[in-house]
Amino acid sequence: MRYQPPPIRQRTDGIEKPKRLTEYPSYLVKKIKGFFSRLFYIVRLVWEAAPAMLVALAALCVLDGIVPIVGAYISKDLLNAVAALIGSKSSGSLVDNLFTTMRPALFLLLAYFIYTFIKKILLRLNTVVTGISGELVTNHIKEKIIIKAGSVDLSSFDRPEFYEKLENANREAGMRPLHILNATFNLISAMISTVSFIVVLAALSPWAPVLIICAAVPGAAVNYIYRNRNFHYMRRHSKERREMNYYTALLTDKDMAKEIKVMGLGDTLVGKYRTVFGKYYKGIRRLIIREGADQIAVGLVSTAVSCLLFAYVAYNVIFGDGQIGDYSLYTGALTSITGYVSLLMNSTSSIYEGTLFINNMMEFMDERAEVVPTLAEPRVPEKSSAHTLELQNVSFRYPGTDKNVIENLNLTIRTPETVVLVGLNGAGKTTLIKLLMRLYDPTEGRILLDGHDIREYDVSALYDLFGIIFQDFGKYAESAAENIRFGDVDREYTEEEIVSAALHADADGFIRELPDGYGTHLTRMFEEDGVELSGGQWQKLSVARAFYKRSDILILDEPTASLDAMAERAVFDRFSELSEDKLAIFVSHRLSSATAADKIVVLSDGRLVELGTHKELMERGGEYCKLFTTQADRYRLDV
Ligand code: ADP
Repeated sequence: MRYQPPPIRQRTDGIEKPKRLTEYPSYLVKKIKGFFSRLFYIVRLVWEAAPAMLVALAALCVLDGIVPIVGAYISKDLLNAVAALIGSKSSGSLVDNLFTTMRPALFLLLAYFIYTFIKKILLRLNTVVTGISGELVTNHIKEKIIIKAGSVDLSSFDRPEFYEKLENANREAGMRPLHILNATFNLISAMISTVSFIVVLAALSPWAPVLIICAAVPGAAVNYIYRNRNFHYMRRHSKERREMNYYTALLTDKDMAKEIKVMGLGDTLVGKYRTVFGKYYKGIRRLIIREGADQIAVGLVSTAVSCLLFAYVAYNVIFGDGQIGDYSLYTGALTSITGYVSLLMNSTSSIYEGTLFINNMMEFMDERAEVVPTLAEPRVPEKSSAHTLELQNVSFRYPGTDKNVIENLNLTIRTPETVVLVGLNGAGKTTLIKLLMRLYDPTEGRILLDGHDIREYDVSALYDLFGIIFQDFGKYAESAAENIRFGDVDREYTEEEIVSAALHADADGFIRELPDGYGTHLTRMFEEDGVELSGGQWQKLSVARAFYKRSDILILDEPTASLDAMAERAVFDRFSELSEDKLAIFVSHRLSSATAADKIVVLSDGRLVELGTHKELMERGGEYCKLFTTQADRYRLDV
């Protein structure tokens, strides 16, 4: 069966465009509501991460809004004072002039310096506050994402749309929320400044501010349209961006480096990366150029309106009773309003675009775990005791697929049995293990633990029962001791127990030979003097980790795959010894390990086809007998 991923849904803010004109008002209300809820979400994120910084940003925003108008008035008075001085040049000494005629102008000059200085301080403060909040907010969001990623169901990772959400959220987690918040505060500052300059300009003519605002509208519209187009383009091409990430990760992955080098795949993969980038780039380039051209066109309109108004101000000052300072005030107000209005429009559209991206993160954080207890007061399984696991008519298919990989399975296993799962690749052995541990829930049927549906148990207490070594077990870039301790991080660390687990797993010998023994840092990812282990050594460490956990049910999913035959035998014997009074489940390719099992479960295409001991199944001469004889023959040939 080929795995068919479900189509990736195109997500925006989730509000559908209306089909009829009458639906537009409610559509707009929904859009605005959505926008504010996303904005509020960002404010909350910043508040959670750095409340003091949020307050500081807000205060700076108000000050930033007020300061420009104060500056404009000081400049106006200063200019008028200087103009008056020029008009009445006195002939006294410099000192006389300084303390008499020039006094008001000097006082204004001082005020202007103070104003400039305050502006500089505010700018610097803004940089400091934004820098600190940036670090705190980014870290807070990253933490939220990794905590969430660790708490969602395993099945979520099987869904491409979840993966997309995770990647998007991760990408957006950088500075985007703070940028949006900053843009919002800039917007508020700009609003305060615009209103104050409008009041100033209205004194000259009430039409002037109206005209100037109208002239800015086309530019704003272009901006809004392109922000929307940009967002949708990014969404449509998110597959390409993910592909680029994939090739980058592949080409920079340490484990993949040898295969890529030996097979000479480097150029091919770089070529594929370039092709994907080419597809993505073609469209985005067109979009950027078109926006530039459209902005130049609409810029002409607003520049023409500004010129007309400048001429009008000059006319009023020359032929009215205005002074040179008034000219500076009004033209300053005109320039400021034009600037602020376009800033307002730009910020609004980039905030809008930004909040659309934040939607990704909100959706990711909304991902709900379904593997949760069905009881309000979940059962807690008894620890350090015997257990029974019973599968009743269990069928299962992976999310987004349409074929059962486990088909109507019935099986009971109990402590202290040793059960071996046997079957060809893809028969469903690992899937069965995942179901037994409740990493997934069956699509049909149920699994009972000690007589109760496993869905009724507290999930982490349930996981506590199992000590498992997966096929793709973890190789942690930590010390050797830490790699074992990860089996049970809640237990207090004692060196004896770590060593004892390593001894059971036949790992103690090689660990002691490492440069720093149990304290040796594994992998050379972060430490210069770190040590790389062989596949077999890593596997022994993972076995030690499982032993360290002291669990009631031990599971080994093909643990011996990278162990040599001798080491495999040793691990198997140790495992049997240790699991004597426990329920032990093995998935093993090498059927030699099945001979001593209490129960051999033979799976084929997700169905249980045979069940019994080695002796029984060999006598039966069925599937197991066939598999065993083929393997035995191969071993004989190998010798
Ligand atoms: P085994 O352990 O016996 O080799 P598995 O349990 O790993 O087999 O796989 C059983 C079947 O389920 C295979 O056909 C495999 O392709 C499919 N499968 C495994 N994992 C997934 C998954 N996450 N999503 C979809 N199909 C899967």
